[in-house]
Amino acid sequence: MKAILLKEPGTPLVLENIPDPSPGAGEAVAKVLACGAGLTIHHARAGRIKVATPRVLGHEITAEIVAIGPGVTQLKRGDPVTAYFYMTCAECKWCRVNRETLCENFRGYVGREIDGGYAEYIRLPVSSFIRIPDTLDWREHPAEVGVICDAIATPLKVTRKARIAPTDTVAVFGAGGGLGVHMLQVARWAHARKVIAVDLAAAKFEACIKAGADVTVDASEGRVAEQLLEATGGRGIDVAIDFVSAASTAEAAIAALGKGGRYVTLGGHGGTFAVNPGEMLRKELELLGSRYATREEVIESLELVARGELWPMVTEKVPLEQAEALHQRLEKALVTGRAALMTG
Ligand SMILES: [Zn+2]
Repeated sequence: MKAILLKEPGTPLVLENIPDPSPGAGEAVAKVLACGAGLTIHHARAGRIKVATPRVLGHEITAEIVAIGPGVTQLKRGDPVTAYFYMTCAECKWCRVNRETLCENFRGYVGREIDGGYAEYIRLPVSSFIRIPDTLDWREHPAEVGVICDAIATPLKVTRKARIAPTDTVAVFGAGGGLGVHMLQVARWAHARKVIAVDLAAAKFEACIKAGADVTVDASEGRVAEQLLEATGGRGIDVAIDFVSAASTAEAAIAALGKGGRYVTLGGHGGTFAVNPGEMLRKELELLGSRYATREEVIESLELVARGELWPMVTEKVPLEQAEALHQRLEKALVTGRAALMTG
């Protein structure tokens, strides 16, 4: 099969022919139609996240089961599937209470510890596949359906962690990025009163408004906390969602929180930031971390898109051969929303 390989961290992706995978016990093989290309994957390509090479990257798939291994009863040939990004044990305390992103026996990620979706076929443990509902037209929209398992599911979880309510003003930091635009969309869907997009790249504000932002804040002008306070008549924002999570964005976001404010970080590479506990006490602030989503939230996200309540923003769809060129654009932050590799 044709596959895009990362041979060494930080080197260009290459297209090669490698043997077709065949399923072992408890595994299935699916034909990939499309695979989303986001920053999480790009960090592995760029060598900023550890990945054993050679490796086929990618986890945001739309695929169709073509072969099942011994003992597999949960899936059959022809089933449409997407993937659950994390490989979790299903048995530890956190898995049993539906908080599997905290799994104590974490086995890694699809497309990092095992080969992912940047190829014509993908082989995964059955537990890593999630069936796509029949009501979702995956053949017609494989790129959009593929990215749901991360680009919609991750923001859906945030709306719950931050308890976004109809009275809330929500600001999204890094709003023009792949997860950011979807966070705007899902915050709007969750009935936020006002949604504010914060980004350094003003060129992405049009897409932010299309995704549901009411107001944009150009972070390249500085004074971000002040701009957010001005946008809320001095009251401050209720929820700050930070996809950048540098010390500067975290501190600006927290400084802009009003009473009862919640700060949510989804970035893992920022520096240490300072918070005044007296401020936290006086305003009853909450500082939260949110990792990916549960399988349940992926299934719910598929359902919401199937019903037409949400629709992923995939702005670039390219063939496998252009994977490296696409990643060059991701490196330069030139992709708005999500991009996808089309394999089918
Ligand atoms: Zn577990």
